[in-house]
Amino acid sequence: MRKPSLIWTNILIFSITFTIACLFVPWRAIVHGFDGVEWLAFVLLAFYSGLSITAGYHRLWSHKAYKAHASVRFFYALGGALALQNSALHWSSDHRIHHKHVDDNDKDPYSAKMGFWYSHIGWMLREYQSQRYHDYKNVRDLQNDPIVMWQHKHYVSLLLIMNLGLPIFLGWLNGDILSMLLLAGFLRLVVVHHCTFFINSLAHIWGSQPYTDKNTARDNGFLALLTYGEGYHNFHHIFEYDYRNGIHWWQFDPTKWLIKLLFYLNLAQDLRKVPQERIETAKLQMQLKRAQTKLAHLPNAEVWIDKLQHEYDELKQELILYYQAKKALLDAKRQAICHRDLKQEVAQLRTNLATRFKHWQRVTRELPFET
Ligand SMILES: [Zn+2]
Ligand SMILES: [Zn+2]
Repeated sequence: MRKPSLIWTNILIFSITFTIACLFVPWRAIVHGFDGVEWLAFVLLAFYSGLSITAGYHRLWSHKAYKAHASVRFFYALGGALALQNSALHWSSDHRIHHKHVDDNDKDPYSAKMGFWYSHIGWMLREYQSQRYHDYKNVRDLQNDPIVMWQHKHYVSLLLIMNLGLPIFLGWLNGDILSMLLLAGFLRLVVVHHCTFFINSLAHIWGSQPYTDKNTARDNGFLALLTYGEGYHNFHHIFEYDYRNGIHWWQFDPTKWLIKLLFYLNLAQDLRKVPQERIETAKLQMQLKRAQTKLAHLPNAEVWIDKLQHEYDELKQELILYYQAKKALLDAKRQAICHRDLKQEVAQLRTNLATRFKHWQRVTRELPFET
């Protein structure tokens, strides 16, 4: 079968920007050096463009994980053009298909099953799925957003203004146009490109699968550092409407922090969060599944699997009771009803759950996998 034709615009953009970043930036650093303002502009524009993709293109427009004020959407639209990853409409269309048909080589635009190169960048170098782009019917809702449509219509002018105009202007202000263009323009663009491309490639290859193994997506704390928090991709693929990817407060997810900040500033509303009970259940189901698989080869597998299932059911029951009581307590607080007894009940159930969970961990640890 003949390979689809090459997309020369993309090939030229990626290769020229990469060459400049790898050759001309070090050359300029050696013969001239960069000053603090240029490095600061590099960092700020890297965060601005990267977060416009993760908080804007991804969590806002592709997944509708929250609602944002028009000024924020406008800011994302410009930052998205600065990131040079196509228009928000096009990007979101691709991304919704990625989630719907994840790992399906014929349908997923950047299927990880096609290998690292393809899912990282290869999918953008040839007309693999050009037939999909004529109507954008899976992003009809976004077609009602005038900012999305304005960005889509003026995308080429915007990307030139943001990627060349803005660094040139900043360089002129700082007294060195070429250095600013090389650092905050080209190097920043290439770094942000590949860091965000890692979400489609490495985050589907490298890491753990605590919530689901129905697709290739992985959780990886190190990748989260490079991808503005999108490294918790296993969680994201099972609970895609959650505005967070790193659900624990300590997990590095600047995109989540930005959205929360916008919420406090009254610039974002309706932040969607998956109930904790569903998250815990998904995790437990994965642990059960893994243990069952490991036990399956034993001669008396059925006995052990029954024992495990029994422990799982007990734990699940404690989990349900705890979250039900917690919800009742929240409702009582909201309605200003006396809730002292409920509070005690929740505390007791929390202790029960913790004990049961420790027991579950011990049981799964002590199962005779090796015998
Ligand atoms: Zn993915
Ligand atoms: Zn997504």
